[in-house]
Amino acid sequence: MYDIEALYEAASLDDALDLLEEHPEAKIIAGGSDVLIEIREGKLSGCTLVSIQKLDELRGIASEKDGTIRIGALESFSHIARSGIIRGGIFALAEAAGVIGGPQLRNIATIGGNVCNGVTSADSASTLMAYDAVMEYRGKDGVRLVPIREHYVSAGKTSLKHGEILTAVLVPKASWENRWGHYIKYAMREALDIATLGCSANVRLSPGKKTIEELRLAYGVAGPVPMRSPQAEKAAEGKAASEETIAAAARAALKDIQPRTSWRASKELRLQIAFELAKRTIRESVRRAGGASDLKEERGGPA
Ligand SMILES: Cc1cc2nc3c(=O)[nH]c(=O)nc-3n(C[C@H](O)[C@H](O)[C@H](O)COP(=O)(O)OP(=O)(O)OC[C@H]3O[C@@H](n4cnc5c(N)ncnc54)[C@H](O)[C@@H]3O)c2cc1C
Repeated sequence: MYDIEALYEAASLDDALDLLEEHPEAKIIAGGSDVLIEIREGKLSGCTLVSIQKLDELRGIASEKDGTIRIGALESFSHIARSGIIRGGIFALAEAAGVIGGPQLRNIATIGGNVCNGVTSADSASTLMAYDAVMEYRGKDGVRLVPIREHYVSAGKTSLKHGEILTAVLVPKASWENRWGHYIKYAMREALDIATLGCSANVRLSPGKKTIEELRLAYGVAGPVPMRSPQAEKAAEGKAASEETIAAAARAALKDIQPRTSWRASKELRLQIAFELAKRTIRESVRRAGGASDLKEERGGPA
């Protein structure tokens, strides 16, 4: 059922890097919730695996001296969803972690595997995009820090080179401080379903809470890789934290995204969902930031 040529269990990060050098064809396995499915489906028949599961140096969620939130690549979504550091600083990531798969899956699926599979539907990715996360890669030549926008190259492809391991996801203080956000996953089922579309927003309001100083809006499944919407962000910047601004930003988002028709949903439905989720995530972010509590949903579509 599982056609595996060899499985090497790394005892340390250096050992894992040595194993990857010795076995250039080997694939890294962390929680295995993507890799094992691919092997079972025959896509990786006869593969060689290097397991990083036992590397405790890739675990831990910490707030570093400079305020950077550091999430070890092997952290499970159960831990991330419950972490006080994540809930206090990047609450939208805890929300994303909490809607991945079901409880058993969240215990084994890692954040590293979620962003290294390169897929656009990865639930953590749009929030990490919206918070300008930085990927920490380790290879034989040392550490490489790669902004998440450069990490995603094309559908299913990341900028990790063979022999490199993602060791942590970093969210610098300037990216999360004074920002409040919200993530919504739209899927056909409540659990164990891949997102039809995911949307993550966060805002920084002016000291008086009347103006959106900065909006960051990101999507999953709105293009081949997770993406930001610069036009939505520009439409809200410096504008009143009002329903009118929120609707304008949501309309502008539709100019940036390129969703596809798939068996899950048509392009037209995805555009409609993208508009609606942008409004809902921005509105909730404004509320969480202490902005207008009387924001009321306006009815109607993007036109
Ligand atoms: C039933 C089911 C439901 C699911 N539901 C969801 C869902 O709702 N939302 C969602 O986003 N995903 C979902 N997934 C997909 C999957 O669980 C996640 O993408 C998960 O986060 C993958 O993590 P993992 O540790 O299991 O990765 P693995 O399967 O171990 O690895 C995934 C990929 O990343 C690479 N990799 C892993 N860790 C590293 C690292 N540290 N450095 C370099 N490369 C690495 C591997 O080589 C492989 O290519 C689901 C999967 C299943 C089976």
